[in-house]
Amino acid sequence: MKFKSNLLKPRRPTRAIFVGNIQIGGGVPVSVQSMTNTDTCDVEATSNQIQRLVNAGCEIVRLAIPNDAALEGFKKIREVCIAPLIADIHFNYKLALGALEAGADAVRINPGNLGGAEKTRPVVEACRMLGKSLRLGVNAGSLEADLMERYGGPTPEAMVASARRWVRQFEDWNFDNFKISLKASDVLVTVAAYRQLSKEVDYPLHIGVTEAGGLIAGTVKSALGLGWLLSEGIGDTMRVSLTRDPVEEVRVAYEILRALHIRERGVEIISCPTCGRCQIDLFSLAEEAERRLAPLTKPIKVAIMGCVVNGPGEAREADVGIAGGKGVGALIKKGEMVRTVPEGELLRTLLLEVAELTGEAVDM
Ligand code: SF4
Repeated sequence: MKFKSNLLKPRRPTRAIFVGNIQIGGGVPVSVQSMTNTDTCDVEATSNQIQRLVNAGCEIVRLAIPNDAALEGFKKIREVCIAPLIADIHFNYKLALGALEAGADAVRINPGNLGGAEKTRPVVEACRMLGKSLRLGVNAGSLEADLMERYGGPTPEAMVASARRWVRQFEDWNFDNFKISLKASDVLVTVAAYRQLSKEVDYPLHIGVTEAGGLIAGTVKSALGLGWLLSEGIGDTMRVSLTRDPVEEVRVAYEILRALHIRERGVEIISCPTCGRCQIDLFSLAEEAERRLAPLTKPIKVAIMGCVVNGPGEAREADVGIAGGKGVGALIKKGEMVRTVPEGELLRTLLLEVAELTGEAVDM
């Protein structure tokens, strides 16, 4: 039975924009995005990474375009990739124009480092003309000098002031096809900034904690920051930022959404930490099961427990599970022990059950 929580605040109403065929805001589920970390000039490596991201559930992919060579690479990637692509541009507005021309579904710019209104306006006009959206990406690390001085540093207030300045500018230009991000590497600064901005505007918000760190630190910071905001109904699209393979970012993003009962995708593995009662190599079993079940897309709960003392009870909410014994293990379905299996066959038994329940191919 699914716990009906009243802990989550209702989603904050926002306008809808599109990145390719993906709607952001306007009441649709929070979308998951990531960014390639291959060299955009390397068309094959980047296209392959985009495909791996899409397979993992990434709905929008962003690519860095730092120079003309990367723009050339992007043009070729665009020809072979149908995924919604965002061009990430800093400093040079002409690269943004080139990327839009080449078929980018949106551009991410930070007007603070693009060269002010004079350089930003042509990008806005190109988006308008081509019907593409834009991300106004405010970053604590590159705020305008006057705001840094006025607020004494990259505070949440300074970040919101920067966003407000550009929102007003865009509105003066009659342009509203944009979303906003306010990224900082500090969780508390990030949450405070988004909270404040969400009270002031109804543009969709792209949420993320930037430069969050490696797998553990980055996951913890992202889970706290994004989880906090999502629980308050703030956030229309999200990116987890990790110093890792970006596919891991997508997995972490879905785990955050699942933990909050916002969106479900793929296998949820419940596994025990083991204790003195465990007599099988549960760590290897859980790791291998996680690796082989990661590509699945249907939501299903799988329990991997160290013993039959608490295993079946703890795994009651799972669709299928196993619990270790001495040299054997039990197959459990909906909290009931179905049969025992030799330890060496536990993994295969579990994978077969999952394949049958989901109807999806599993790497045996
Ligand atoms: Fe210990 Fe068994 Fe609980 Fe795992 S399921 S933590 S082995 S009691």
